Amino acid sequence: MGKNAELNRQASRRHYERNKPEMVARAKAFTIAARNRNREYIKSVKEQTPCQDCGFKDHRALQFHHLSDKDANIGDSIAASWGMDRLKREIEKCIVLCANCHHIRHYEQRLIAGVKQSGSSLRS
Ligand SMILES: [Zn+2]
Repeated sequence: MGKNAELNRQASRRHYERNKPEMVARAKAFTIAARNRNREYIKSVKEQTPCQDCGFKDHRALQFHHLSDKDANIGDSIAASWGMDRLKREIEKCIVLCANCHHIRHYEQRLIAGVKQSGSSLRS
């Protein structure tokens, strides 16, 4: 490394050390803002989308059900402060269902999987 490059490197490290508390605080604020934004976005999608199976409308009991290649639960996007692109991509793989219809879908899926595993008969 040339002398100038070395000096630049030292200068930028000093700059970072001097500004570290501010940078850490800014990163924290960014994370909190992303969490709040994701939470609000998820809520707004649910407020605009009734349950696809029964038409139920209260966003507090609506959930995202994955139809294809699930990477993660939509709710994980809040704690993990995903970017909007990732959140929207994941939501596109889902339909909105109320908690009851969601449970019923998963129950039916388990039954179908049970039929496939055991051949013909359902296990009770
Ligand atoms: Zn429903």
